Amino acid sequence: MSVHRSALCRGPYGGEGAAAGGTGCSDPAIFEVARHGRPPLPVCPVHLGPALLMASGVLWPPEIRLIGRVTGLRP
Ligand SMILES: [Zn+2]
Repeated sequence: MSVHRSALCRGPYGGEGAAAGGTGCSDPAIFEVARHGRPPLPVCPVHLGPALLMASGVLWPPEIRLIGRVTGLRP
């Protein structure tokens, strides 16, 4: 595992405040959700949808960046 691809999912709430260390999901982040006034939120595929709806500061329409490899999908 290379260092720059080792970002872990911080979804679905964004890992802020009491949950700053994350929410217990230890899957590698595949997507990065752009947020207003906050650092981008790395999320795994499972938490991408919930994060868009529940994380704070998410832009609408959402801006999502692919930062990892999606298992099972062909580019
Ligand atoms: Zn996750």
